[in-house]
Amino acid sequence: MFNIFEKDFEEKRLFFLKRQLKYCKNNSRFFSEMFEKNQISIDKIDSLQKWKDLPVLMDKKKVRDCQEDSMELNNHSFGSHLCAPLEKVIYVYSTSGTTGNPSFYCFTKNDFKVHTDLVKRVMKFTGLKEGDSIMWGFGLGNFVATSLLPILADMGVRVIPVGADAGTERLIQYTKLARPDTLIGTPSFLKYMIEKVPSITGKNVADLGFRRIITGGEPGAGLTDVRNQLLNAYDAPIYDLYGPANQFANISCGTKDYHGMHVLGSDCGIWEDIIDPITNEPLEIRDGVIGNMVITEIKKEATPYLKYAMNDIIQVFTEECECGNPGPRIKVLGRADDMLIVKGVNIYPSAIQNIISKYSEELSGALKIHLDRDPPLVTPPLRITAELSKKFNKIKHDILIDRIQEKIRNILRVKVEISLVPFGSFERSVRKTVLIVRDDIIQ
Ligand SMILES: [Zn+2]
Repeated sequence: MFNIFEKDFEEKRLFFLKRQLKYCKNNSRFFSEMFEKNQISIDKIDSLQKWKDLPVLMDKKKVRDCQEDSMELNNHSFGSHLCAPLEKVIYVYSTSGTTGNPSFYCFTKNDFKVHTDLVKRVMKFTGLKEGDSIMWGFGLGNFVATSLLPILADMGVRVIPVGADAGTERLIQYTKLARPDTLIGTPSFLKYMIEKVPSITGKNVADLGFRRIITGGEPGAGLTDVRNQLLNAYDAPIYDLYGPANQFANISCGTKDYHGMHVLGSDCGIWEDIIDPITNEPLEIRDGVIGNMVITEIKKEATPYLKYAMNDIIQVFTEECECGNPGPRIKVLGRADDMLIVKGVNIYPSAIQNIISKYSEELSGALKIHLDRDPPLVTPPLRITAELSKKFNKIKHDILIDRIQEKIRNILRVKVEISLVPFGSFERSVRKTVLIVRDDIIQ
Protein backbone atom coordinates (compact mmCIF):
# COMPACT_ATOMS: atom_id res chain seq x y z
CA MET A 1 0.00 0.00 0.00
CA PHE A 2 1.36 3.42 -0.81
CA ASN A 3 0.35 6.42 1.19
CA ILE A 4 -2.30 8.61 -0.43
CA PHE A 5 -0.72 11.64 1.20
CA GLU A 6 2.65 11.06 -0.43
CA LYS A 7 3.60 13.76 -2.90
CA ASP A 8 3.90 11.34 -5.82
CA PHE A 9 0.73 9.35 -5.03
CA GLU A 10 -1.09 10.47 -8.17
CA GLU A 11 2.01 9.77 -10.31
CA LYS A 12 2.15 6.24 -8.95
CA ARG A 13 -1.52 5.69 -9.72
CA LEU A 14 -0.97 6.97 -13.25
CA PHE A 15 1.93 4.53 -13.62
CA PHE A 16 -0.26 1.61 -12.50
CA LEU A 17 -3.15 2.79 -14.70
CA LYS A 18 -0.96 2.88 -17.81
CA ARG A 19 0.56 -0.47 -16.95
CA GLN A 20 -2.98 -1.87 -16.60
CA LEU A 21 -4.12 -0.41 -19.93
CA LYS A 22 -1.10 -1.80 -21.78
CA TYR A 23 -1.63 -5.19 -20.14
CA CYS A 24 -5.31 -5.23 -21.17
CA LYS A 25 -4.50 -4.19 -24.72
CA ASN A 26 -1.82 -6.86 -25.10
CA ASN A 27 -3.78 -9.70 -23.53
CA SER A 28 -7.31 -9.35 -24.81
CA ARG A 29 -8.82 -8.69 -28.20
CA PHE A 30 -11.86 -7.26 -26.44
CA PHE A 31 -9.81 -4.47 -24.85
CA SER A 32 -7.63 -3.74 -27.89
CA GLU A 33 -10.80 -3.38 -30.00
CA MET A 34 -12.40 -1.25 -27.31
CA PHE A 35 -9.43 1.14 -27.25
CA GLU A 36 -9.44 1.33 -31.03
CA LYS A 37 -13.17 1.96 -31.26
CA ASN A 38 -12.98 4.73 -28.67
CA GLN A 39 -9.77 6.14 -30.18
CA ILE A 40 -7.88 5.72 -26.92
CA SER A 41 -4.14 6.07 -27.27
CA ILE A 42 -2.48 4.91 -24.05
CA ASP A 43 0.56 7.12 -24.70
CA LYS A 44 -1.62 10.21 -24.70
CA ILE A 45 -3.05 9.52 -21.23
CA ASP A 46 -0.55 11.64 -19.30
CA SER A 47 -2.79 12.46 -16.33
CA LEU A 48 -5.56 10.80 -14.34
CA GLN A 49 -7.83 13.62 -15.41
CA LYS A 50 -7.43 12.63 -19.08
CA TRP A 51 -8.61 9.13 -18.15
CA LYS A 52 -11.54 10.49 -16.14
CA ASP A 53 -12.58 12.70 -19.07
CA LEU A 54 -13.14 9.65 -21.29
CA PRO A 55 -16.66 8.20 -21.59
CA VAL A 56 -17.80 5.15 -19.63
CA LEU A 57 -16.41 2.00 -21.30
CA MET A 58 -18.00 -0.86 -19.38
CA ASP A 59 -21.09 -1.72 -17.40
CA LYS A 60 -23.01 -4.80 -16.30
CA LYS A 61 -24.54 -5.27 -19.76
CA LYS A 62 -21.16 -5.07 -21.47
CA VAL A 63 -19.80 -7.76 -19.15
CA ARG A 64 -22.81 -9.99 -19.93
CA ASP A 65 -22.15 -9.49 -23.66
CA CYS A 66 -18.50 -10.44 -23.08
CA GLN A 67 -19.64 -13.62 -21.38
CA GLU A 68 -21.86 -14.57 -24.30
CA ASP A 69 -19.01 -13.87 -26.73
CA SER A 70 -16.54 -15.99 -24.81
CA MET A 71 -19.00 -18.87 -24.69
CA GLU A 72 -19.07 -18.83 -28.47
CA LEU A 73 -15.38 -18.09 -29.07
CA ASN A 74 -13.60 -19.78 -26.18
CA ASN A 75 -16.14 -22.25 -24.86
CA HIS A 76 -16.20 -20.70 -21.38
CA SER A 77 -18.50 -18.18 -19.73
CA PHE A 78 -15.98 -15.99 -17.95
CA GLY A 79 -15.98 -13.28 -20.61
CA SER A 80 -13.93 -12.09 -23.56
CA HIS A 81 -12.47 -9.46 -21.21
CA LEU A 82 -10.56 -12.27 -19.46
CA CYS A 83 -6.93 -11.23 -19.92
CA ALA A 84 -5.24 -14.11 -18.11
CA PRO A 85 -5.16 -17.74 -19.27
CA LEU A 86 -8.12 -19.59 -17.75
CA GLU A 87 -5.73 -22.00 -15.97
CA LYS A 88 -4.44 -19.03 -13.97
CA VAL A 89 -7.89 -18.21 -12.61
CA ILE A 90 -8.13 -19.59 -9.08
CA TYR A 91 -11.33 -18.05 -7.73
CA VAL A 92 -14.61 -17.01 -9.32
CA TYR A 93 -17.54 -15.25 -7.78
CA SER A 94 -20.77 -14.20 -9.39
CA THR A 95 -23.35 -11.52 -8.79
CA SER A 96 -26.69 -12.83 -7.63
CA GLY A 97 -28.02 -13.46 -11.14
CA THR A 98 -31.63 -12.92 -10.11
CA THR A 99 -32.42 -12.23 -13.76
CA GLY A 100 -30.75 -14.33 -16.46
CA ASN A 101 -27.26 -15.75 -16.17
CA PRO A 102 -24.97 -14.65 -13.36
CA SER A 103 -22.12 -12.23 -14.07
CA PHE A 104 -18.77 -13.78 -13.26
CA TYR A 105 -15.78 -12.02 -11.79
CA CYS A 106 -12.45 -13.85 -11.75
CA PHE A 107 -9.28 -13.69 -9.68
CA THR A 108 -5.80 -14.92 -10.47
CA LYS A 109 -3.45 -15.67 -7.56
CA ASN A 110 -2.13 -12.11 -7.72
CA ASP A 111 -5.66 -10.67 -7.90
CA PHE A 112 -6.58 -12.63 -4.80
CA LYS A 113 -3.50 -11.23 -3.04
CA VAL A 114 -4.67 -7.67 -3.77
CA HIS A 115 -8.19 -8.62 -2.66
CA THR A 116 -6.81 -10.15 0.54
CA ASP A 117 -4.83 -7.01 1.29
CA LEU A 118 -7.91 -4.81 0.81
CA VAL A 119 -10.19 -7.04 2.91
CA LYS A 120 -7.63 -7.05 5.72
CA ARG A 121 -7.43 -3.24 5.62
CA VAL A 122 -11.18 -2.74 6.05
CA MET A 123 -11.47 -5.45 8.69
CA LYS A 124 -8.56 -4.04 10.70
CA PHE A 125 -10.21 -0.61 10.46
CA THR A 126 -13.13 -2.00 12.51
CA GLY A 127 -10.67 -3.19 15.15
CA LEU A 128 -11.13 -6.86 14.20
CA LYS A 129 -7.95 -8.73 15.07
CA GLU A 130 -6.37 -12.11 15.67
CA GLY A 131 -8.23 -14.02 18.35
CA ASP A 132 -11.60 -12.35 17.65
CA SER A 133 -14.46 -14.45 16.37
CA ILE A 134 -17.00 -13.65 13.66
CA MET A 135 -20.48 -15.07 13.02
CA TRP A 136 -21.18 -15.27 9.30
CA GLY A 137 -24.65 -13.83 8.66
CA PHE A 138 -24.38 -13.42 4.88
CA GLY A 139 -25.57 -16.22 2.63
CA LEU A 140 -23.05 -18.94 1.88
CA GLY A 141 -23.71 -19.17 -1.86
CA ASN A 142 -21.31 -18.32 -4.62
CA PHE A 143 -21.43 -14.61 -4.14
CA VAL A 144 -18.71 -12.15 -3.45
CA ALA A 145 -18.85 -11.95 0.33
CA THR A 146 -17.96 -15.64 0.66
CA SER A 147 -14.46 -14.80 -0.58
CA LEU A 148 -13.91 -13.03 2.75
CA LEU A 149 -14.05 -16.29 4.70
CA PRO A 150 -10.53 -17.62 3.97
CA ILE A 151 -9.14 -14.09 4.41
CA LEU A 152 -10.68 -13.68 7.85
CA ALA A 153 -9.28 -17.06 8.86
CA ASP A 154 -5.88 -15.94 7.53
CA MET A 155 -6.12 -12.88 9.82
CA GLY A 156 -6.36 -15.27 12.74
CA VAL A 157 -10.06 -14.56 13.24
CA ARG A 158 -12.20 -17.53 14.31
CA VAL A 159 -14.89 -17.79 11.65
CA ILE A 160 -18.25 -19.43 12.42
CA PRO A 161 -19.71 -19.84 8.92
CA VAL A 162 -23.33 -20.68 9.72
CA GLY A 163 -24.76 -18.32 7.08
CA ALA A 164 -28.11 -16.59 6.88
CA ASP A 165 -29.48 -19.34 4.62
CA ALA A 166 -29.27 -21.80 7.54
CA GLY A 167 -32.01 -19.78 9.27
CA THR A 168 -32.08 -17.51 12.29
CA GLU A 169 -32.69 -20.32 14.75
CA ARG A 170 -29.53 -22.18 13.73
CA LEU A 171 -27.55 -18.93 13.75
CA ILE A 172 -28.68 -18.13 17.29
CA GLN A 173 -27.96 -21.67 18.47
CA TYR A 174 -24.40 -21.45 17.17
CA THR A 175 -23.97 -17.94 18.58
CA LYS A 176 -24.89 -19.18 22.04
CA LEU A 177 -22.44 -22.08 21.76
CA ALA A 178 -19.50 -20.44 19.98
CA ARG A 179 -19.82 -16.92 21.47
CA PRO A 180 -18.55 -14.90 18.49
CA ASP A 181 -17.95 -11.21 19.26
CA THR A 182 -18.64 -9.92 15.72
CA LEU A 183 -21.63 -10.37 13.44
CA ILE A 184 -21.53 -9.71 9.70
CA GLY A 185 -24.55 -9.65 7.34
CA THR A 186 -26.85 -7.51 5.21
CA PRO A 187 -28.75 -4.73 7.03
CA SER A 188 -32.03 -6.45 6.06
CA PHE A 189 -30.96 -9.68 7.71
CA LEU A 190 -29.66 -7.89 10.80
CA LYS A 191 -33.00 -6.09 11.10
CA TYR A 192 -34.82 -9.39 10.71
CA MET A 193 -32.74 -10.79 13.59
CA ILE A 194 -34.03 -7.95 15.82
CA GLU A 195 -37.60 -9.14 15.19
CA LYS A 196 -36.88 -12.82 15.36
CA VAL A 197 -34.51 -13.28 18.32
CA PRO A 198 -37.04 -12.51 21.13
CA SER A 199 -39.46 -15.19 19.90
CA ILE A 200 -36.68 -17.78 19.88
CA THR A 201 -34.67 -16.90 23.00
CA GLY A 202 -37.10 -14.78 25.00
CA LYS A 203 -34.39 -12.12 25.10
CA ASN A 204 -33.33 -9.19 22.93
CA VAL A 205 -30.75 -9.36 20.18
CA ALA A 206 -28.34 -7.30 22.31
CA ASP A 207 -28.22 -10.22 24.76
CA LEU A 208 -26.41 -12.30 22.15
CA GLY A 209 -23.41 -10.20 23.15
CA PHE A 210 -22.00 -9.02 19.81
CA ARG A 211 -19.47 -6.24 20.33
CA ARG A 212 -19.14 -5.28 16.67
CA ILE A 213 -21.57 -5.39 13.74
CA ILE A 214 -20.34 -5.27 10.14
CA THR A 215 -22.89 -4.81 7.36
CA GLY A 216 -22.64 -4.86 3.60
CA GLY A 217 -24.31 -5.99 0.40
CA GLU A 218 -26.82 -3.13 0.32
CA PRO A 219 -27.15 0.39 1.69
CA GLY A 220 -28.87 0.52 5.05
CA ALA A 221 -26.21 1.00 7.66
CA GLY A 222 -25.66 4.39 6.01
CA LEU A 223 -29.31 5.42 6.38
CA THR A 224 -29.72 7.39 9.60
CA ASP A 225 -32.83 5.66 10.87
CA VAL A 226 -31.91 2.13 9.85
CA ARG A 227 -28.53 2.71 11.45
CA ASN A 228 -30.04 4.02 14.68
CA GLN A 229 -32.39 1.05 14.80
CA LEU A 230 -29.43 -1.36 14.49
CA LEU A 231 -27.31 0.62 16.98
CA ASN A 232 -30.07 0.66 19.60
CA ALA A 233 -31.02 -2.97 19.16
CA TYR A 234 -27.53 -4.50 19.07
CA ASP A 235 -25.94 -1.97 21.42
CA ALA A 236 -22.66 -2.25 19.46
CA PRO A 237 -20.85 -0.11 16.87
CA ILE A 238 -22.04 -0.61 13.28
CA TYR A 239 -19.52 -0.66 10.43
CA ASP A 240 -20.77 -0.22 6.88
CA LEU A 241 -18.68 -2.08 4.28
CA TYR A 242 -18.62 -1.48 0.52
CA GLY A 243 -16.25 -3.11 -1.96
CA PRO A 244 -13.70 -4.60 -1.67
CA ALA A 245 -13.93 -7.10 -4.54
CA ASN A 246 -13.55 -4.52 -7.31
CA GLN A 247 -10.18 -3.27 -6.10
CA PHE A 248 -11.61 -0.53 -4.00
CA ALA A 249 -12.35 -0.89 -0.32
CA ASN A 250 -14.48 1.28 1.89
CA ILE A 251 -15.65 1.09 5.48
CA SER A 252 -17.35 3.49 7.86
CA CYS A 253 -15.80 4.34 11.19
CA GLY A 254 -17.16 3.52 14.61
CA THR A 255 -18.47 7.01 15.46
CA LYS A 256 -22.07 7.17 16.69
CA ASP A 257 -23.19 9.35 13.78
CA TYR A 258 -22.59 8.21 10.23
CA HIS A 259 -19.99 10.11 8.21
CA GLY A 260 -19.75 7.90 5.13
CA MET A 261 -17.22 5.16 4.43
CA HIS A 262 -13.50 5.87 4.49
CA VAL A 263 -11.95 5.03 1.11
CA LEU A 264 -9.04 2.69 1.81
CA GLY A 265 -8.14 1.33 -1.62
CA SER A 266 -7.15 4.31 -3.74
CA ASP A 267 -3.81 2.65 -4.57
CA CYS A 268 -5.58 -0.25 -6.31
CA GLY A 269 -8.34 1.51 -8.19
CA ILE A 270 -9.56 4.83 -9.50
CA TRP A 271 -12.96 5.49 -7.94
CA GLU A 272 -13.22 9.28 -7.96
CA ASP A 273 -14.62 9.23 -11.46
CA ILE A 274 -18.20 10.36 -10.92
CA ILE A 275 -20.77 11.02 -13.64
CA ASP A 276 -24.18 12.62 -13.70
CA PRO A 277 -26.72 9.74 -13.56
CA ILE A 278 -28.92 11.30 -16.22
CA THR A 279 -26.53 13.01 -18.66
CA ASN A 280 -23.44 10.80 -17.98
CA GLU A 281 -21.32 13.97 -17.95
CA PRO A 282 -18.26 13.86 -15.63
CA LEU A 283 -18.71 15.70 -12.32
CA GLU A 284 -16.07 17.62 -10.43
CA ILE A 285 -15.00 15.96 -7.17
CA ARG A 286 -15.85 18.25 -4.29
CA ASP A 287 -17.40 17.87 -0.86
CA GLY A 288 -21.01 16.70 -1.16
CA VAL A 289 -21.02 15.88 -4.90
CA ILE A 290 -23.49 13.13 -5.89
CA GLY A 291 -23.21 10.88 -8.95
CA ASN A 292 -22.85 7.43 -10.48
CA MET A 293 -19.47 5.95 -9.59
CA VAL A 294 -17.21 4.72 -12.39
CA ILE A 295 -14.30 2.54 -11.35
CA THR A 296 -11.05 1.45 -12.96
CA GLU A 297 -9.03 -1.36 -11.46
CA ILE A 298 -5.30 -0.77 -11.79
CA LYS A 299 -3.87 -4.01 -10.38
CA LYS A 300 -6.05 -6.63 -12.00
CA GLU A 301 -5.00 -9.61 -14.10
CA ALA A 302 -8.10 -11.78 -14.70
CA THR A 303 -11.19 -9.77 -15.65
CA PRO A 304 -10.31 -6.08 -15.26
CA TYR A 305 -12.93 -3.37 -15.07
CA LEU A 306 -11.89 -0.23 -16.92
CA LYS A 307 -14.15 2.81 -16.62
CA TYR A 308 -16.91 0.52 -15.38
CA ALA A 309 -20.14 2.26 -14.31
CA MET A 310 -21.00 0.66 -10.97
CA ASN A 311 -24.61 1.81 -11.17
CA ASP A 312 -24.29 2.97 -7.57
CA ILE A 313 -25.10 6.56 -6.76
CA ILE A 314 -22.61 7.85 -4.24
CA GLN A 315 -21.99 11.06 -2.37
CA VAL A 316 -18.40 12.14 -1.75
CA PHE A 317 -17.16 13.85 1.41
CA THR A 318 -13.76 15.52 1.47
CA GLU A 319 -13.94 17.40 4.80
CA GLU A 320 -12.13 15.77 7.72
CA CYS A 321 -14.09 13.09 9.58
CA GLU A 322 -15.04 13.33 13.26
CA CYS A 323 -12.98 10.15 13.92
CA GLY A 324 -9.78 11.94 12.88
CA ASN A 325 -8.88 9.48 10.12
CA PRO A 326 -7.79 11.49 7.08
CA GLY A 327 -8.83 11.00 3.47
CA PRO A 328 -12.06 11.07 1.48
CA ARG A 329 -15.27 9.22 2.32
CA ILE A 330 -18.24 8.05 0.28
CA LYS A 331 -21.84 7.24 1.04
CA VAL A 332 -23.96 4.99 -1.18
CA LEU A 333 -27.37 6.55 -1.77
CA GLY A 334 -28.85 3.82 -3.97
CA ARG A 335 -28.74 2.08 -7.35
CA ALA A 336 -28.69 4.39 -10.38
CA ASP A 337 -31.35 2.33 -12.14
CA ASP A 338 -33.53 2.44 -9.01
CA MET A 339 -33.65 6.22 -9.16
CA LEU A 340 -37.16 7.49 -9.65
CA ILE A 341 -38.21 10.90 -10.88
CA VAL A 342 -41.56 11.92 -9.47
CA LYS A 343 -42.70 15.29 -10.84
CA GLY A 344 -39.11 16.43 -11.31
CA VAL A 345 -37.91 15.23 -7.90
CA ASN A 346 -35.17 12.56 -7.82
CA ILE A 347 -36.02 9.85 -5.30
CA TYR A 348 -33.99 6.81 -4.26
CA PRO A 349 -35.86 3.89 -2.72
CA SER A 350 -33.36 4.01 0.16
CA ALA A 351 -34.67 7.48 1.09
CA ILE A 352 -38.17 6.03 1.43
CA GLN A 353 -36.76 3.07 3.34
CA ASN A 354 -35.15 5.51 5.74
CA ILE A 355 -38.44 7.30 6.45
CA ILE A 356 -40.31 4.01 6.88
CA SER A 357 -37.65 2.99 9.42
CA LYS A 358 -38.66 5.94 11.58
CA TYR A 359 -41.85 4.01 12.39
CA SER A 360 -40.09 1.05 13.94
CA GLU A 361 -42.86 0.57 16.54
CA GLU A 362 -45.64 0.34 13.98
CA LEU A 363 -43.87 -1.04 10.89
CA SER A 364 -41.43 -3.90 10.33
CA GLY A 365 -39.38 -1.79 7.89
CA ALA A 366 -40.00 -4.13 4.93
CA LEU A 367 -41.54 -2.35 1.96
CA LYS A 368 -42.16 -2.49 -1.78
CA ILE A 369 -42.43 0.37 -4.25
CA HIS A 370 -44.83 -0.37 -7.10
CA LEU A 371 -44.23 0.81 -10.65
CA ASP A 372 -46.34 0.12 -13.70
CA ARG A 373 -43.80 1.16 -16.31
CA ASP A 374 -40.06 1.53 -16.81
CA PRO A 375 -38.38 3.90 -14.34
CA PRO A 376 -37.26 6.59 -13.75
CA LEU A 377 -40.41 8.64 -14.56
CA VAL A 378 -43.30 8.02 -12.19
CA THR A 379 -46.70 9.69 -12.31
CA PRO A 380 -47.70 10.59 -8.75
CA PRO A 381 -48.80 9.26 -6.38
CA LEU A 382 -45.88 6.90 -5.86
CA ARG A 383 -47.42 3.66 -4.59
CA ILE A 384 -45.77 1.98 -1.61
CA THR A 385 -46.72 -1.09 0.38
CA ALA A 386 -45.26 -1.26 3.88
CA GLU A 387 -45.41 -4.19 6.25
CA LEU A 388 -46.81 -3.78 9.77
CA SER A 389 -44.75 -4.75 12.80
CA LYS A 390 -45.80 -7.82 14.76
CA LYS A 391 -47.19 -5.61 17.52
CA PHE A 392 -49.35 -3.45 15.29
CA ASN A 393 -50.87 -6.18 13.18
CA LYS A 394 -54.44 -5.80 14.37
CA ILE A 395 -54.75 -2.09 14.96
CA LYS A 396 -56.75 0.35 12.82
CA HIS A 397 -54.37 1.93 10.38
CA ASP A 398 -56.04 4.93 8.76
CA ILE A 399 -54.33 7.48 11.01
CA LEU A 400 -50.97 5.75 10.61
CA ILE A 401 -51.30 5.80 6.80
CA ASP A 402 -52.06 9.55 6.86
CA ARG A 403 -49.09 10.22 9.12
CA ILE A 404 -46.62 8.33 6.94
CA GLN A 405 -47.93 9.85 3.73
CA GLU A 406 -47.58 13.32 5.17
CA LYS A 407 -44.11 12.63 6.52
CA ILE A 408 -42.88 11.45 3.12
CA ARG A 409 -44.51 14.42 1.40
CA ASN A 410 -42.83 16.82 3.84
CA ILE A 411 -39.36 15.28 3.57
CA LEU A 412 -39.16 14.17 -0.06
CA ARG A 413 -41.71 16.57 -1.60
CA VAL A 414 -43.60 13.84 -3.44
CA LYS A 415 -47.12 12.52 -3.14
CA VAL A 416 -47.30 8.86 -2.09
CA GLU A 417 -50.07 6.35 -1.57
CA ILE A 418 -49.35 3.90 1.24
CA SER A 419 -50.97 0.50 1.71
CA LEU A 420 -50.19 -1.66 4.72
CA VAL A 421 -49.90 -5.44 4.76
CA PRO A 422 -49.74 -7.83 7.76
CA PHE A 423 -46.45 -8.74 9.39
CA GLY A 424 -44.71 -11.57 7.56
CA SER A 425 -46.16 -10.76 4.10
CA PHE A 426 -42.76 -9.96 2.59
CA GLU A 427 -40.06 -12.54 2.21
CA ARG A 428 -36.77 -11.66 3.96
CA SER A 429 -33.70 -11.82 1.79
CA VAL A 430 -30.24 -12.85 2.90
CA ARG A 431 -28.86 -11.11 -0.16
CA LYS A 432 -30.00 -7.80 -1.61
CA THR A 433 -33.56 -6.84 -0.85
CA VAL A 434 -35.62 -5.96 -3.93
CA LEU A 435 -37.52 -2.78 -3.16
CA ILE A 436 -39.06 -2.03 -6.54
CA VAL A 437 -41.71 -4.32 -8.03
CA ARG A 438 -43.27 -3.99 -11.45
CA ASP A 439 -47.01 -4.56 -11.38
CA ASP A 440 -47.20 -4.64 -15.19
CA ILE A 441 -44.72 -7.53 -15.46
CA ILE A 442 -45.62 -11.01 -14.26
CA GLN A 443 -42.71 -12.04 -12.00
ZN1 LIG B 1 -14.45 8.55 10.28
